Amino acid sequence: MLILIINSGSSSLKYQVRDTSQDSVLTEGLIERIGESEVADHAQALDQVEQELGRILGDQTLDAVGHRVVHGGERFGEPVLVNNEITRAIERLNPLAPLHNPANVLGIRAITRKWPNLPQVAVFDTAFHKTMPEHAWRYAIPDELYRKYGIRRYGFHGTSHEYVSRQAAKLLGIGAGDFNGIVAHLGNGASITAVSGGKSIDTSMGFTPLEGLVMGTRSGDIDPSILLFLAREGYSTEDLDQLLNRNSGLKGMTGTNDMRSTQEAADDGDEQAAIALKVAAYRLAKYIGAYHVAVNGAQALVFTAGIGENAWQFRESVVEQLGVLGISLDDAANRKKSSDPREISTEGSSIPVLVIPTDEEAAIAEATAAVVQNHQ
Ligand code: AMP
Repeated sequence: MLILIINSGSSSLKYQVRDTSQDSVLTEGLIERIGESEVADHAQALDQVEQELGRILGDQTLDAVGHRVVHGGERFGEPVLVNNEITRAIERLNPLAPLHNPANVLGIRAITRKWPNLPQVAVFDTAFHKTMPEHAWRYAIPDELYRKYGIRRYGFHGTSHEYVSRQAAKLLGIGAGDFNGIVAHLGNGASITAVSGGKSIDTSMGFTPLEGLVMGTRSGDIDPSILLFLAREGYSTEDLDQLLNRNSGLKGMTGTNDMRSTQEAADDGDEQAAIALKVAAYRLAKYIGAYHVAVNGAQALVFTAGIGENAWQFRESVVEQLGVLGISLDDAANRKKSSDPREISTEGSSIPVLVIPTDEEAAIAEATAAVVQNHQ
């Protein structure tokens, strides 16, 4: 099937066309600065996509559109075929993901107007984590806040965690439903998931993507009282949002959110960069210990996304701290550059350590094709 994958942001639209029968990418692109002079809105951005598709596809036609939707709330645990009611349900989740879901809805409505008969599927970033047990998704705050505002842990990066778990199971030669492991998705945003029987049972991002690991620009876990302290010092809500989501993490500690630059700076003797890397690696090592307990003994530890797939020094500094669990890296395998799924642990390691490249677009295309086929 020919699937157009849409990742619609508030001022950008990323797209890719994939042929799921060959698992190939026909074209892809990014339209930025939507809302400014050249591209007034998402509908105009789609006009540009349509022109590009006309050039590439000739007389072939699309079979479906798959949308990356950030928040599926408590309702969506699986990809769904979009109709008006579903679009409204996604829109009702806007308060939970104010930067993302409104843009996702704009993308869906723009396609509905342009190609009303083309099936559209919404694939949710939160869906994979819907299997978390209540003791993992509850915050220890009054129940009223959950009932009134939906304040609970949701988790994100689900499409990647699920895809990578399946690929890891394949590499281990077991069924996806038999996989018990820990998946660390380490990109500019970062989260780690405890997977048991192929299902997410815990994950480090929570009510929003801010919780958990040290990220490019996000702090991850901090004492919430820091916010109260800063509020009393005169910080506004907007200031705190910017501070923790955009100006913290590696960027806050070193001035850059980029792992490669941070590593280079540390290699050149920059002590701030070195300590930032240690903070991030230590936080991750602690989560791995915790999730080893959560899954009752992981069968594998998996690294993915920009940092997980490429930053061998960072993987080394994380796994160095896992000696007590009997996990160890093969130095040459860890340093080797590759874009293939691979094992990087020693033969004597208690469990394999894997590097599995993530591919969210491939996962969205597969999910979209499966939903559309089920409805035919
Ligand atoms: P992502 O959000 O998955 O694209 O990941 C982005 C992060 O991956 C950035 O912090 C990059 O610096 C990091 N990254 C990408 N390639 C490399 C590399 N070869 N070595 C170290 N870090 C890398």
